[in-house]
Amino acid sequence: MIHEPEVIVAGGGPAGIACAVALARGDRRVVLLEAELAARDHVGESLSPTAWQAVLRLGAAAAMRGAGFCPKLGATFSWSGQASPWTVSYPMVDDQPPAYQARRAKFDAILLTAASAAGADVQLGWRVEQILPPSSGTASVLATSPYGESVRLAAPWVVDARGRSGPNQSRHAYRTGPAELDHAALWGFWRRRTGSPPDSRRTSLLIGRPEHCLWYYPLDEMASLASVGVVISAQADDDPVGGAEKLYRAAVASCPELMPLLSGTVLEGPVRSCAANAGACEQMAGDGWFLVGDAAFFVDPLLTPGVQLAIEHGTLAAACLLTLLNRREDRASVLELYDQVIRRDYETYVRLSSNLYHAARTSAGPVPGQAQVPPADGQFAFLSLISGLPRSELAARLGEYMSLRNAVAERGGAAVALGEKEGFSFLRWLFHKDRLIAERSARIVSRLADDCVLRPAVGAAIGHEAFLPADGGQVLTFQPAVRNRLGDRFAATPELAALFAVLGEGRPLAEIRRLFRQKAPDTGAGCSSAFDAWIELLADHALVEWALAREGDVCVA
Ligand SMILES: Cc1cc2nc3c(=O)[nH]c(=O)nc-3n(C[C@H](O)[C@H](O)[C@H](O)COP(=O)(O)OP(=O)(O)OC[C@H]3O[C@@H](n4cnc5c(N)ncnc54)[C@H](O)[C@@H]3O)c2cc1C
Repeated sequence: MIHEPEVIVAGGGPAGIACAVALARGDRRVVLLEAELAARDHVGESLSPTAWQAVLRLGAAAAMRGAGFCPKLGATFSWSGQASPWTVSYPMVDDQPPAYQARRAKFDAILLTAASAAGADVQLGWRVEQILPPSSGTASVLATSPYGESVRLAAPWVVDARGRSGPNQSRHAYRTGPAELDHAALWGFWRRRTGSPPDSRRTSLLIGRPEHCLWYYPLDEMASLASVGVVISAQADDDPVGGAEKLYRAAVASCPELMPLLSGTVLEGPVRSCAANAGACEQMAGDGWFLVGDAAFFVDPLLTPGVQLAIEHGTLAAACLLTLLNRREDRASVLELYDQVIRRDYETYVRLSSNLYHAARTSAGPVPGQAQVPPADGQFAFLSLISGLPRSELAARLGEYMSLRNAVAERGGAAVALGEKEGFSFLRWLFHKDRLIAERSARIVSRLADDCVLRPAVGAAIGHEAFLPADGGQVLTFQPAVRNRLGDRFAATPELAALFAVLGEGRPLAEIRRLFRQKAPDTGAGCSSAFDAWIELLADHALVEWALAREGDVCVA
């Protein structure tokens, strides 16, 4: 094992591997301890195009493409209350399949090899029993070696990537997600009998019914193996008369969509089961430690963001560590940024998943006679399903978002096309906007007027803030910025800096206008209505707030 590692990564799934790869590429001494001696089968087989691109960035693209995984050209939904079925199709990328469904044992083994090739010290058969609190700037773990010895290993930072089986929930306060995502999953592998006609399906099939939801993923290119899973309420799994296999077979048999796909196949091996409830740790990083992947949070087995988020968050943790190993003075700002990004993703996916199941549970079945979703419209149908918005409202919100993004593109930002990644950015924006509206109405109850006391919004501050690395960058960047209590960061333009300088603890609006004009005479803020419109905009983003002077300095909620 390498001498004096700078980072110990506990767990060699996608999250731990992504983190170790990025650290090794940044020339840091990183050791990855994986409990198993060889990669084992695992749920998490269906990869979205965004997940697949993230996988390819870890290296080993040729090995991944040649592994015999089943290309995934889209996802077909058969959902209660929807014209059914409809397909979200993924375009080819450089003449290559856009995504795959992969048997995890092989997939994780290729990724572990990529981590070694990148320069990480990958140690198999090492079980991390405990991550100890840091002392004098050094964190440590208690681990059991492949020979059964108990060993204490130390490093400045430890990344907990032990997945849902890791004992994170005892060490970190853990909050379970909403009751509607309190699920259990049952799944099995179905092998095609020799001589049976192959399944030419190249899309995943997702079925949503009030009593349970199901997945069907063809797993290998030869179409000989498929993963079929059932997501049920966690209470149903406790049914004493049930037994997992009986419950599973009954759910599979109740789906007419599955019958043609499973004819000529046999269930191979036991039916597997696990809890699949949403939940998140209350803190994602602290002095000497980071949580990544499922060790930080889990949302849902069906929406399949798990591997993608594990890789993205593992890579982000590495960017934070590469920053911190150089500049400890920015510790608080870096840890806070990490915590906010992870938490925001958790909250977004909780909302998306809740909408998905809500739609399945509240409708009796496919609507007879409803117009079919045109083939090109699958993406829109999908966005409507998971955003919880009816089509007309979705179209309006999407239009608003795209015109904003186009305005950004005109000012030199990236050009946009509504693909999978942009679709999820839109949903993040949509949900965050709702939060901002709620935050504003909880704090501001009067109209902006000259005698209002204007002040920085609760939790808003100007300072030196960490920003996510620009595409391709390995470390965080820092710049003067104004931040709101939700963690949004805005570059501190001269106007914003001048405003925060004159706001102080709060002053009447008329006085702020006057002081601001003195401090920033060239900003065009001489016009009161333009200045007030700008203040309203800042209030929409939880940067400033006001109360009527007679209400004193405390806002009425
Ligand atoms: C039923 C179900 C279906 C799912 N389907 C999908 C899907 O189709 N697509 C998708 O993207 N996601 C899916 N997910 C989610 C996905 O499986 C996870 O989000 C993803 O695997 C998380 O990666 P990870 O690296 O955080 O954890 P894991 O993949 O769980 O990896 C953790 C690693 O840590 C190791 N480890 C555990 N304990 C220790 C220890 N004490 N010491 C050292 N090592 C340890 C484990 O052996 C493992 O290799 C599904 C999840 C469930 C529950």
